[in-house]
Amino acid sequence: MNVLVIGGGGREHAIVKKISESKRVDKIYCAPGNGGISDIAECIDINVSDVEKLKKFAIDNNVDLTIVGPEVPLMKGIVDEFENSGLRIFGPRRDAAAIEGSKYFTKLLLHKYNIPTARFKAFDRYDAALNFLKDVWYPVVIKADGLAQGKGVFLVYSYKGAKEALDILMKEKRFGTSGDTVIIEEMLFGREVSVLAFTDGKTIVPMVSAMDYKRIYDGDKGPNTGGMGNIAPNPYFDDKLLSVVVDTILKPVITSLKKEGIVYKGVLYAGLILTEDGPKVLEFNARFGDPETQVVLPLLKTDLVDIVEAIIDEKLSDVKIEWEDKKAVCVVAASEGYPGEFNTGYDITGVENTDGVFVYHAGTTIKDGKYKTSGGRVLEVTALGNTYQEARKKAYDELKKIHFEGMYYRNDIGTV
Ligand code: ATP
Repeated sequence: MNVLVIGGGGREHAIVKKISESKRVDKIYCAPGNGGISDIAECIDINVSDVEKLKKFAIDNNVDLTIVGPEVPLMKGIVDEFENSGLRIFGPRRDAAAIEGSKYFTKLLLHKYNIPTARFKAFDRYDAALNFLKDVWYPVVIKADGLAQGKGVFLVYSYKGAKEALDILMKEKRFGTSGDTVIIEEMLFGREVSVLAFTDGKTIVPMVSAMDYKRIYDGDKGPNTGGMGNIAPNPYFDDKLLSVVVDTILKPVITSLKKEGIVYKGVLYAGLILTEDGPKVLEFNARFGDPETQVVLPLLKTDLVDIVEAIIDEKLSDVKIEWEDKKAVCVVAASEGYPGEFNTGYDITGVENTDGVFVYHAGTTIKDGKYKTSGGRVLEVTALGNTYQEARKKAYDELKKIHFEGMYYRNDIGTV
């Protein structure tokens, strides 16, 4: 079969790599792809949000299956568009993707069906929001309703800070219409966990848990990034906690959506916080996480194409999903300056010398047969091992064979 993967980061490299291992796949296209993806798939120069062009490409090239990586095309209704044209595509439809696209929609849903999350109020008028902030107990969290690339969330400790956040969202409109409605919610405390699950709207199967290292410097210091590393499984998340999450959050969310007339099919990513009162929802994403995917998919033993097809056909319960009983450690190599300003266009050398690891490309291009840096996060090296220590050593040993100017990585990924 011919498969089209949409996206061009490390997550999509991991998806492309996994499906390239399927005996059922003949040809893989990736739009737009990147330097590393071009080694195993044909990269197509179409933007991820150009739904019309992507659809035309899929029809013209007899694509049998499309897998969507990033959120933007999902919010634009790519799944509805493809399905209306009789194409098979993996991901939630637009109404279901609102679980990521609108925090207000999600908070209302969680509240209505008693699913644990922070208490909240929503405002679409600046004056009313400001008035409310005069009387609340601090700290609180202020969030833009819509997508803001992880930058629309403000943890505030005083009225002054709250007003500044509100001004950015509602007056300055830094995130455009995403800030037309704001959520003000109580601040919760506890360790954060991401739980990803496959679901066909009936059955829900959690994936191996993962732990993200969000900050730029060792010891979790410095500004937040898109992720500097990941390990799986998450050492702080056990089966007992998982069954609480499945029973009190994941299953209820899928059934509540169904009660609202929405079928959720695809990957459901729950961002949770483990409070003293149990796990609570911080947010949902409507797709594979990046870089969680880069540690989770290498551990998947079952053919990903079988899982994806079963979800599309709402037969997920027929598939037995199996995982390697191993640990995965992924270390991100970034451009100097990231998550602030950085330069690109540097030669990357040594990737071909690595052995026994997955080198996923996040921000690279290929020119005259040479990889060049093209993003903040450049490469992600994932190693598997029987222990975190073994996987960690392998990832770092192999990463050290790679070089590009200004290459930066954390040294403490996988020290648990
Ligand atoms: P991202 O896409 O980066 O995951 P997002 O913009 O979708 O982020 P959230 O996940 O809702 O936003 O929040 C981002 C981060 O802010 C969380 O990972 C968490 O650290 C913090 N946060 C959000 N809500 C709360 C809360 N109620 N209490 C404490 N911390 C919170």
